[in-house]
Amino acid sequence: MTIQDNFRPAPPAEIAEPDEFAALRKRVRATLAEHVTPERLNKFDEAEEYDVELFHEIAAAGLVKLDGELHGPGPGHQAQAVVLEELGAGPTSVAVSMVVQYMGVQLLHSYGNHQQQEEFLAPLHSGAAKMSFALSEPDGGTDVARAMKTNAVHLENGSYSISGQKKWIGGAMDADYLILLARTSETTRSAIDGITMFLVPRSTPGIRTEIIDTVGIRGLAQCDIYLDDVRVPAENVLGEVDKGFRQVLDTLNGERLNGAAVALGIARGAMETAIGWARERHAFGRPVGSFQGLQHSLVDASVKIESARLLLRQAAQASDSGPGTNETWSALAKLAASDAATTTTDVGMRVMAGWGFFRGLPMQRYFRDARLYTFAPLTDEMTRNYIGEKHLGLPRSF
Ligand SMILES: Cc1cc2nc3c(=O)[nH]c(=O)nc-3n(C[C@H](O)[C@H](O)[C@H](O)COP(=O)(O)OP(=O)(O)OC[C@H]3O[C@@H](n4cnc5c(N)ncnc54)[C@H](O)[C@@H]3O)c2cc1C
Repeated sequence: MTIQDNFRPAPPAEIAEPDEFAALRKRVRATLAEHVTPERLNKFDEAEEYDVELFHEIAAAGLVKLDGELHGPGPGHQAQAVVLEELGAGPTSVAVSMVVQYMGVQLLHSYGNHQQQEEFLAPLHSGAAKMSFALSEPDGGTDVARAMKTNAVHLENGSYSISGQKKWIGGAMDADYLILLARTSETTRSAIDGITMFLVPRSTPGIRTEIIDTVGIRGLAQCDIYLDDVRVPAENVLGEVDKGFRQVLDTLNGERLNGAAVALGIARGAMETAIGWARERHAFGRPVGSFQGLQHSLVDASVKIESARLLLRQAAQASDSGPGTNETWSALAKLAASDAATTTTDVGMRVMAGWGFFRGLPMQRYFRDARLYTFAPLTDEMTRNYIGEKHLGLPRSF
């Protein structure tokens, strides 16, 4: 029997945190320990299929709703970050779909009227319904407001007709609802005005989705959405007409934070895998983890992980305390976590060498999946622009 035949990563790291979050983390770990095995994770990644049953198991454990009441402010950011880090370290594709689900839930808590909250929130909380968030388009992600070609025309009967195309939409194939942004007015002032947010059942006639072949997060379909005269009633406008992009910008802070949490999870999962390997795999009569070159690289990666964790904690606490410095902390945390994830997965691939390349073991999956958070939901370059301007007080660089 060789190490690769029954390899298991090092056990999950113990994390010191307030009792409330330690208890939540324990609950997430218990849920994953009950339902997830390395074989299950590998199977869905290889099949490029979404593990919808696992999503339901996670929702059944109350991990979508968390502490969010139907008409309250929504689940806390610190709680979301705990869940997403744990999922990121294991079923990463499900973690990414949860980022979207939390975002949909948050947008409904923030901008949904009483009726919309009644209709949409309960099934999203329970996991009976899944949400996708459709903003990016073929001609632009970073500068999507200027590039947006999807239009919503207000018809005489009060409803809207939406036509256009959305690109890279995570989970759209399996989603029950889309939160979709479309241009409702030409704007002379700023490109981010004149855009409206709509709640659209995915089964609405005129919607066609196609899967895009991607290199990572293969357990969650990234989709093209083609929209051809999709009729949406006026009561499905979420928030204010023409103000949708500004409303989303406020919520993207939470998405950055949650992206940081998943990236931290990927880094941690890769580190636990690398440590397990470094202890067990032998060369020249000793564990490969005893070679200083590898050991120091692992140490440097773990410094990045722990730094990202502290920034994330600070950002999540600031976000739970209300408006203020939370957006800058979230941007710092996102950048630190994406760096921790790409560094750790790179080191992990070196530690495992040939076995890192083997698709039966998880390091190659972490290595591929880690790339997502270098550009989503906001690219690292744009995140740096933001930090340069808001944190360092330098002139806007674009
Ligand atoms: C797996 C996956 C899942 C996704 N999920 C979703 C989803 O669910 N919903 C959704 O709406 N979108 C989603 N996206 C899209 C994602 O948000 C975009 O890819 C991202 O916003 C970047 O846009 P882009 O790819 O068009 O890059 P571009 O905007 O074309 O950027 C190209 C390069 O130019 C740089 N750049 C652009 N402007 C500047 C500037 N001012 N200063 C410095 N550098 C700059 C960027 O940083 C980047 O390096 C997903 C993408 C992927 C691949």
